[in-house]
Amino acid sequence: MKTAFFLRASGWLAALLWTAPVQAELKVATLHPLLTDLAHQVGGASVNVQAVVAAGTDMHHFSPSAADVKKLAGSTLVLVSGKNLENYLGKLQDNLTADQEMLEVGAGIPSLTRADAEELVDGQARRGGKDKEKDKDDDHDHDHGGVDPHWWNSVENMQRASKVLAAAFSKKDPANAGKYEANAVVYSKKLGELKKWARREISRIPADRRKLATSHLALSYFAREFGFRLIPVQGMNPEVPATSKDLAAAADTIRKNKITAVFPEQGVNPKHLTELSRETGVKFGGELIADGNGTGGLATFTGAFEHNVTEIVKALAVP
Ligand SMILES: [Zn+2]
Repeated sequence: MKTAFFLRASGWLAALLWTAPVQAELKVATLHPLLTDLAHQVGGASVNVQAVVAAGTDMHHFSPSAADVKKLAGSTLVLVSGKNLENYLGKLQDNLTADQEMLEVGAGIPSLTRADAEELVDGQARRGGKDKEKDKDDDHDHDHGGVDPHWWNSVENMQRASKVLAAAFSKKDPANAGKYEANAVVYSKKLGELKKWARREISRIPADRRKLATSHLALSYFAREFGFRLIPVQGMNPEVPATSKDLAAAADTIRKNKITAVFPEQGVNPKHLTELSRETGVKFGGELIADGNGTGGLATFTGAFEHNVTEIVKALAVP
């Protein structure tokens, strides 16, 4: 009897061991190019990452199509940016099955409010109540509930996000928890080195020249981390057209602050910057990637960040 039971039990155990590797792979869908990058960094070979959003996509206007929703099939975790960047999350949630979990990665990261971001903006370029009136008229919700959604423009926030992903992956796939935590630590260290490099580079820019004139208010997390002031020519929302009064105010700020360079942004029409350049004689810096919308080597966080710091220092440091 005992032997028969043992044989049956060991056969059952062998079957269990045999089937275990088949169910081990964690499939994760991502709806932001920087989350695709981060999921690869933290997941390594243990996670199958399904990138729903292609590199270079305009993240302020993306909304998943029926074909995109089909790509979510089989993923038990669906990563979105959060902080009100996406206005389609309710609709997306309705399309998920009971075993699919949507995670707003930015939700666990401290927010800069729109008011905080405006604190970083040089006086004359601020566009208070009038801007809010314009946003109300706009058919897209670009006010982002008073929160600046661009949390990814900060090294510390990306370190926080790697921890968020390691915890989420570990919950779904406890067998590989050690790997996810180790990968997050390795990536976080790499980001720490990147931050030290950025601080060294930025120290070449005299303090009174650390001013970033760009199209939209997308770099407040970066500005706070690295001590810059901001001059967003078009405010928080690249959709809202700047009036001639706004441009005159921006030109005034550029002159008063002796701004030497304006920075176009990938995916944002630089026509207002061109007008300002013509009017004030300010030169153009290299194109910055503020929305995680870089392509090729600039589609990753480290690629885009290194590129941005290099272009900023090139334009603003005293030769
Ligand atoms: Zn943006």
